[in-house]
Amino acid sequence: MSIKDNLEEIRNRVNNAENKAGRAAASVRLMAVSKFHPVDSVYEALAANQFLFGENRVQEANDKFPAVIENFPQTELHMIGQLQSNKVKTAVRIAQCIQSVDRIELLQEIEKQCSKINKTINVLFEVHTGEESKSGFESVEVLEETLSKCAEGLFPHVNPTGFMTMAPFTDDEKLIRKSFITLRELSEKLKKEYNQFNMPELSMGMSGDFEIAIEEGSTLVRVGTAIFGERDYSKK
Ligand SMILES: *Cc1c(COP(=O)(O)O)cnc(C)c1O
Repeated sequence: MSIKDNLEEIRNRVNNAENKAGRAAASVRLMAVSKFHPVDSVYEALAANQFLFGENRVQEANDKFPAVIENFPQTELHMIGQLQSNKVKTAVRIAQCIQSVDRIELLQEIEKQCSKINKTINVLFEVHTGEESKSGFESVEVLEETLSKCAEGLFPHVNPTGFMTMAPFTDDEKLIRKSFITLRELSEKLKKEYNQFNMPELSMGMSGDFEIAIEEGSTLVRVGTAIFGERDYSKK
C-alpha cells in the first residue's frame, strides 16, 4: 500500500470513529508522524493533501522541514517528542506547536527563544496518564503551578492550546481507554480553572489506539506507522 492509500484508509477510519462516537465530521485532525522516515515520504503525504506533521527529534525535523515548508507553506509542523532545552531555539523556528511541554523550565526557554524572534507559539501540556509512561509532567500539581505562571503573564509568547498524552504500551484496551479518559477529565477541570486560555486541543491516539482516543474526545490523532510503515531505527 502506498502512503496515499494508507492516508485514505486512515481518514476513513477517523471519519467512522467520529460518526460512531456521535461527533461532528472533521472534529478530529490527523497528524502524520514522519519521524525516521525520509523527506520523500513527507512529499508523498503532501501530494495526498496531508499538511499536518509531527516529528520527535529537533535535529531530524530541522534536516527535513525547512525545505518542505518553503515548498509547501501550508505545512504545519508540531514537535511531539521530549525536548531538551538546548534544542528549543531550533524547535521554535520550525514548529507551530510544541506538544510535549513537560516542565516549567522548558516553558521558560520557549518564552526566551520566542521573544528573540518575536513569535508566539502554541503549546500543549503533556500529561502522564498511564502507569508505565515516562513522559509528561511529573504531577498534576506541577502542571497546575505551571498554568498559574502562564496565567500571571510570565510567558507572553506562549499560547497554551490544550493537552497531550501517550497511552501505555499495552494490548489492554481498558488501560488505554482509562489513560484517555484521565486526560479528558483533567483537561475539563483545568479549562474551567484557567478559562482565560482557549485550550480545546486533546492530542491523543496513535496508530494502534486512535479509534479509542476519538471515542474519548481526541481532537488530534498522531499517526506514524499506519501511514508511513514501520520505522527503521537502524538508519539514524
Ligand atoms: C512515534 C509517535 C507517534 C506515532 O506512533 P505510531 O504508533 O507509529 O502511530 C505518536 N506520538 C508520539 C509522541 C510519538 O513519539
